[in-house]
Amino acid sequence: MELFDVTIVGGGPAGLYSAFYSGLRDLKTKIIEVQPVLGGKVNIYPEKVLWDVGGLPPMQAQQFVQNLIMQANTFSPTICLNTKVEQVKKQDDIFVITTSQGEVHYSKTIIVAVGGGILNPIKLELEGAEKYEMTNLHYTILGLESFRNKKVLVSGGGNGAFDWAVELLSVAKEVVVIYRKEQITAHESQVKKLKEHGVKFMLNAEIQSLVSNEDKKAIDYVAISQNGVTHQIQVDDVLICHGYNREISLSFDDNIQPQRKDDYYLVSHGQCKTSVPGIFGAGDIVSYDDKVNLLVGTFQDAVLAVNNACMYINPGAEKYAMVSSHNDKFEEKNKELLKK
Ligand SMILES: Cc1cc2nc3c(=O)[nH]c(=O)nc-3n(C[C@H](O)[C@H](O)[C@H](O)COP(=O)(O)OP(=O)(O)OC[C@H]3O[C@@H](n4cnc5c(N)ncnc54)[C@H](O)[C@@H]3O)c2cc1C
Repeated sequence: MELFDVTIVGGGPAGLYSAFYSGLRDLKTKIIEVQPVLGGKVNIYPEKVLWDVGGLPPMQAQQFVQNLIMQANTFSPTICLNTKVEQVKKQDDIFVITTSQGEVHYSKTIIVAVGGGILNPIKLELEGAEKYEMTNLHYTILGLESFRNKKVLVSGGGNGAFDWAVELLSVAKEVVVIYRKEQITAHESQVKKLKEHGVKFMLNAEIQSLVSNEDKKAIDYVAISQNGVTHQIQVDDVLICHGYNREISLSFDDNIQPQRKDDYYLVSHGQCKTSVPGIFGAGDIVSYDDKVNLLVGTFQDAVLAVNNACMYINPGAEKYAMVSSHNDKFEEKNKELLKK
């Protein structure tokens, strides 16, 4: 049995920064992430440019994720990908973490950093639609360039749909937005931008069927019903932004149930401690007054969670790690960096 000091469930920004900070505090650290890649929901918007992370120049989200991963690896934590945590129980003083594959992990403390849970896009409920996912039916955009000079139909009326429609304006030949309701819920500024570019909106409109071209591999036309009338629209690509289903796979044994808010969020009892000693929370999963659901907020949470995990394991430990600018740990690394 390999026992870790800190096991972090979730490899998004909160989990990654927790791993860095946990290494800084000399704790034996593991991250468990259900997806095949680290980065959490920042991977949903890889090409968006982030401006609001302190001290960083504006950069694309995908670059930001790479930076976070590099930093998280500073002290070589153990990283388990494709691993979904399902159950946590406590035996004696040790947390026993079981995954969906039946693997068991052992840890003195846990930092829950699962954000909004496992996000699965809400798919089109049309028979056979899934076969087009290999070609021109999309649930997110991983690279704008593949939409250059294309006619793209975007379905959805929320921020997800409108943000992508605005991004597509820079490359696509034509963007058409359809929404099943009368009232768009996206930010007014995004709606205005689309209107200024002459984007066609179809309200009270729903995709009725996808009509494939002769080789049956890609969508050629979309049949749309609007107020009882069916329209056939030729498309090169279809982007569905109907939101996400949240899968909450992580559960705790009855004797270690942390207090929740709205049946989901972990209530922080000060400094990212949950109501269960030894279980901490960081990032979007935690709830407390004045919580900031931004990347910068995840970093503060991570520091608090790790420092408290450290003091839980060793009550005599310092409250904080030595600041990096004066921390001996970086002496050798600094020499190498400064040489470069
Ligand atoms: C479209 C969009 C744009 C945004 N833009 C900005 C911005 O410009 N600036 C900003 O500051 N913030 C922005 N945010 C918010 C920011 O992305 C989040 O605050 C941040 O990602 C939260 O990080 P997290 O680590 O708490 O959660 P997440 O990023 O959600 O990461 C949680 C991780 O836990 C994993 N996980 C969940 N359940 C399990 C399980 N049972 N087992 C194993 N792993 C599990 C998930 O797969 C995921 O990788 C944006 C958010 C969205 C959706």
